Amino acid sequence: MVHGVGVGGGSLVYAAVLLEPKASFYQAPAWRDLHSDWQRELAPHYQRARQMLGASVNPYVGLQDDWLQQTAAQLGRADSYGPVTQGIYFGAPEVAVDPFFAGQGPLRQGCSRCGNCISGCAQGAKNSLDKNYLHLARQLGVQVISEARVSHLSRKGEHYHVHLQRRGMGAVVLVIVMAVLLPIIQMNSFVK
Ligand SMILES: Cc1cc2nc3c(=O)[nH]c(=O)nc-3n(C[C@H](O)[C@H](O)[C@H](O)COP(=O)(O)OP(=O)(O)OC[C@H]3O[C@@H](n4cnc5c(N)ncnc54)[C@H](O)[C@@H]3O)c2cc1C
Ligand code: SF4
Repeated sequence: MVHGVGVGGGSLVYAAVLLEPKASFYQAPAWRDLHSDWQRELAPHYQRARQMLGASVNPYVGLQDDWLQQTAAQLGRADSYGPVTQGIYFGAPEVAVDPFFAGQGPLRQGCSRCGNCISGCAQGAKNSLDKNYLHLARQLGVQVISEARVSHLSRKGEHYHVHLQRRGMGAVVLVIVMAVLLPIIQMNSFVK
């Protein structure tokens, strides 16, 4: 078994499918009363996420899509078939452009349809974190520290202390930051 990590986390190897919940999701009895209209409340955040993740409708239709469409039709659910929105740049594979951030983002090449998304996009077409948030953060002066393991966090007044150990270095390094964003532990993050 091969395993690895990289700057960009799960976004490096995710399938880039960006599905949004339908109206019925917000009406589920378990949470419909959490907010009077939380579909509307969340709408601007979905809009921001779509923009930051470069959500684009996949324009390609292949043999497997045909099979899927035929199967849906056979099941009487032809209306459920349709293209999928993905966090992928679908422009020309040979041309390098910044399609999402008006010159502030990295140069990108369009999807070559190699199908390697889940082992990482060597083409640079997938909108992984290093191509959006981390790239923009670096431009604002954020220092990205890789190959380091955080052991714990502590709070000191207005600041947080991030205690980490760097690969090959014995000493524990202390980084003082204003805020800490913790990744979400993934549990069924695919919303259908
Ligand atoms: C194969 C695969 C396919 C997927 N496909 C999709 C998809 O199509 N659509 C979709 O919406 N979601 C998909 N997901 C899920 C999605 O990738 C994750 O939900 C998302 O990347 C989580 O992002 P995050 O920033 O919360 O955490 P992560 O991306 O997991 O980032 C956590 C980071 O923290 C680092 N870390 C952990 N512990 C420590 C420590 N102690 N010290 C220092 N660093 C540490 C990790 O190395 C990692 O880089 C997929 C996931 C996988 C694995
Ligand atoms: S170029 Fe290949 S790995 Fe990258 S998004 Fe397209 S199919 Fe996925």
